[in-house]
Amino acid sequence: MGRGPRHAQGKRGGALKVGKGSKQSPGTKLVTSGRSGDFASHVVNPPVWRASTHLYKDCAALREGVKSNEDGRFFYGRRGAPTQWALAEALTELEPGAAGTVLYPSGVAALVGALMAVLRSGDVLLVQDNCYDPTRNAAMGILKRYGVAHRFFDPLNIEAFEDAYCDKTKAVMLENPGSLTMEVCDIPALARIAREKGAVSLVDNTWATSLGFAALEHGCDIVITALTKHVGGHSDVMMGAASAGDKWHRRLRQTAQQLGHVVSPDDAALALRGLRTMGVRLRHETESALAIAEWLQSRDDVAHVLCPMLPGSPGHEFWRRDFTGGCGLFSFVLKGGDDAARCRLVDALELFGIGYSWGGFESLALPFDVEPVRAKMAWPKAGWGVEDRFAIRLSIGLEDTGDLIADLEQAFAAMNER
Ligand SMILES: *Cc1c(COP(=O)(O)O)cnc(C)c1O
Repeated sequence: MGRGPRHAQGKRGGALKVGKGSKQSPGTKLVTSGRSGDFASHVVNPPVWRASTHLYKDCAALREGVKSNEDGRFFYGRRGAPTQWALAEALTELEPGAAGTVLYPSGVAALVGALMAVLRSGDVLLVQDNCYDPTRNAAMGILKRYGVAHRFFDPLNIEAFEDAYCDKTKAVMLENPGSLTMEVCDIPALARIAREKGAVSLVDNTWATSLGFAALEHGCDIVITALTKHVGGHSDVMMGAASAGDKWHRRLRQTAQQLGHVVSPDDAALALRGLRTMGVRLRHETESALAIAEWLQSRDDVAHVLCPMLPGSPGHEFWRRDFTGGCGLFSFVLKGGDDAARCRLVDALELFGIGYSWGGFESLALPFDVEPVRAKMAWPKAGWGVEDRFAIRLSIGLEDTGDLIADLEQAFAAMNER
């Protein structure tokens, strides 16, 4: 192998210099990012660097080491080591407007870790009604126990969102599109209102990643991604990340260290490996998902197809305006209230696995019911017939699109038999 790329020549012994303002397009950055440290020179992938203890030359070096708390400087394993730093650096370079990234042992750890970084007892948190279920549970559980109150709001109703504020509202938890029902909301408007009211806006951007939605550039303060999904991409690693500008990044980092969050170098290497191919995977999945969504929409036994990339899907206009990409995750609702029929369909699928999570190379199907997790939203309650409440979420992987449609077709046939 020849010399490493020029950007791989790091400043000897110094903190990492993230290539801010780089002119490279995101597709190129997926390849070049996270490779500035000395440890990344002359090697394409950073080695898995296992270290809890860093040995110092003498007492003076030990005293010096404690002073700077930043990636690229050894201290102790809880502050990471080269493999984790390379991943965090890559994610920062890919997130326009970010000064740094903190890694967490799961996406949920990132969500709760970030919320704990910005909130204190007595504060009120506004939570989007169609958020990821564990986010809702954290608001109603651990955050409440620590004295943080919450209010859910309908992200499609800007007026109601403004009305939900009080003088104790300190943070807003956003997500785009919403989990399961996939509504895309007007994040720039919601984030602008949050800023005007002096609240911190956090957004769960797992669906789009920084490639599909530049959250900080659209006005959010902290962007959270479950790396378990598209970044890992192979259903074999759990991890989360939170990126932000300088002020909030420092607070995130401090809180994560106090909570003792750290990710293993093995997992960081897997996530970094996944990241390199994320662009091509997302492009394929998006194209395949849209073709399958259109096919589903043409069926008489399907009531609604909830896919941000599909014209007519709730919030599609915001997706077209604000996003630069999609992914393979979307949902559809069956006509008629027959859970047994839905189970026949899901059970008959051969290429789709039945299971949680998404964003891997394999396609998955997940049955869900909307009713139990929506408290505030007019849609979908108004938009759906009472009967049409049995839904299925699909995560489209890298299989051939035609094979996936054929699999769905035979499963629908199994559903409609009898
Ligand atoms: C899966 C998921 C998470 C959590 O990620 P884990 O790594 O499974 O904890 C967070 N947000 C969204 C939208 C998700 O789908």
